[in-house]
Amino acid sequence: AKAAGGRAFRFYAPAMNERQQDLLALESDLHWALERNEFVIYYQPQADMLSGKVVGMEALLRWQHPERGLIQPDDFIPLLEETGLIVKVGLWVLKQACLDAMAQQAQTQLPLRISVNLSARQFSAGDLAAQVAEVLAEIGFAPNQLELEITEQMLINDLETSAGTLEALQRLGVRVSIDDFGTGYCSLAYLKRFPLHALKIDRTFVSELPANLSDSAIVEATILLAHKLGLEVVAEGVEQAEQLHFLRQLGCNMVQGYYLSKPRPAAELAGMVALDLAD
Ligand code: C2E
Ligand code: CA
Ligand code: CA
Ligand code: CA
Repeated sequence: AKAAGGRAFRFYAPAMNERQQDLLALESDLHWALERNEFVIYYQPQADMLSGKVVGMEALLRWQHPERGLIQPDDFIPLLEETGLIVKVGLWVLKQACLDAMAQQAQTQLPLRISVNLSARQFSAGDLAAQVAEVLAEIGFAPNQLELEITEQMLINDLETSAGTLEALQRLGVRVSIDDFGTGYCSLAYLKRFPLHALKIDRTFVSELPANLSDSAIVEATILLAHKLGLEVVAEGVEQAEQLHFLRQLGCNMVQGYYLSKPRPAAELAGMVALDLAD
């Protein structure tokens, strides 16, 4: 169920008021969601192109609303950001994701890498690396098994602060990837300045592969550039075998998308860890 309810009516003035009231109600519920334990994390596997094996999981936040059901991030993360609640909730996601990975590892005895999305507020907070270090130490999670996803926009908002934060994260030993690569402000020149580990090619460039020639060219050039700069490449939103084959030919390192699995609750981690691209 869509959180805002009457989306289809948004062009009509009376319904728009209704929609605004609805958003206000949602926002007031949001203030209680954390202490009421209504947030849940879904996980989506990322597989290595060469081995076909799952190498990591992206943590994706959901809100289990008592009346409205499961709400998707696009319908409440903007509200979390506006209200500033995202800082607290983001820290909860980081902790919970590490805890879930630890529990999964205890079963398989194999390390599991977790990717956590950061919001701009968390990234520019100044004490991010210290907070991350504290969580890792508290839980006993290995820094090199944590990846933080940031966007191009966050990087270039404040180049000096970004450089400092990324260097602190590098000293800590966590990985940093650029999410939705290609959709933001193009910051190619800055890529070499920062200690980064991976680029995630946005789904919009992947969905029409290989038929769309400009998307093909963009993806090919991005992979080439990333590799020259020593970065790994993850393709997002891979849904079809043809997309997978095309990306494999180009040397893309990892894939994530419905082709392998949709995001699923933590209880299903064991099944997702065992997935293989070849099956
Ligand atoms: P994102 O980081 O770009 O995450 C990828 C989105 O693409 C997810 O949407 C995922 O479910 C969807 N997706 C993955 N594979 C496919 C596919 O093959 N086809 C299609 N059509 N979609 C696919 P989701 O879970 O709705 O998350 C939306 C956005 O919300 C995320 O985009 C991210 O920007 C944000 N988000 C999610 N969790 C968090 C969080 O804990 N913190 C912050 N700050 N943002 C989050
Ligand atoms: Ca992401
Ligand atoms: Ca993305
Ligand atoms: Ca996105």
